[in-house]
Amino acid sequence: MEIREVQIVQAMVKSKLPDCDYVINPYIGCAHSCAYCYAKFMKRFTGHQEEWGKFIDVKTNIVWALKNQLERPARTKYFEKGMVFLSSVTDPYQSLEDKYRLTRSCLELLAKYDWPVSVLSKSSLIKRDIDVFKKFSDIEVGLSIGVLNDGIARLFETTSNKVSERVKALHEVKRNGIKTYLFIAPVLPFLTDLESTFKFFQGKVDKICVETLNTDSVNWKGVREVLAAHFPDLLPKYEYIFFTKKRDAYLEDLSREVSAFGKKYKVKTVF
Ligand code: SF4
Repeated sequence: MEIREVQIVQAMVKSKLPDCDYVINPYIGCAHSCAYCYAKFMKRFTGHQEEWGKFIDVKTNIVWALKNQLERPARTKYFEKGMVFLSSVTDPYQSLEDKYRLTRSCLELLAKYDWPVSVLSKSSLIKRDIDVFKKFSDIEVGLSIGVLNDGIARLFETTSNKVSERVKALHEVKRNGIKTYLFIAPVLPFLTDLESTFKFFQGKVDKICVETLNTDSVNWKGVREVLAAHFPDLLPKYEYIFFTKKRDAYLEDLSREVSAFGKKYKVKTVF
């Protein structure tokens, strides 16, 4: 793993993602290195030659940069208070966060000015910051789980926490009175059991977000390799779903299923 400490000017950047105004990514790259990672496209902008998952840039001065942005709002409308998402193209609680504590420090600062925040991770390290989450008047904390089965998840997510540990972490955050959400992402056809997942989390999270598999070329390569090695029978089925006219019908069916399960298990959904 190539780890570099880098300096930045802007900690928080405007976002085009739905339901958030800004994003903060304390790291460039992600050690989880999920086979299906949608963020691999970042290499086009960062110039890294290493494989995705084999490099991390640590934005060591990010707290200084964020402080500048939060404490000088009058200079520009750009920094008007809005929903901040951590993080869009990295995991804010990947293992290096244990050492650098950049996500924690950014959150402490955001809490000081009471900005609304949404946190998303694939790591049970989020439990460490429950005390900081409690300082916000508007925060939601989510964990990403694509399949409930630890064994299957491990094939696609070789280095992240076991699903069972993530589940425990999410429950602990919720027990502490913090709004939580489950991010079922990505839905892996024939492997993600959507209904069992909704049933399992019934009454245990405030919202369930569902995201489909991103099959842009670089992402598909990773998924294809795992399928070919472990589920060869599924490979032609995925190709049929994602690379033919079937795709639109699949997405419509999935959207219907998500709202039906949301009603059945009485939980707010986002798809
Ligand atoms: S945790 Fe998220 S950002 Fe990190 S490799 Fe996995 S999908 Fe990509």
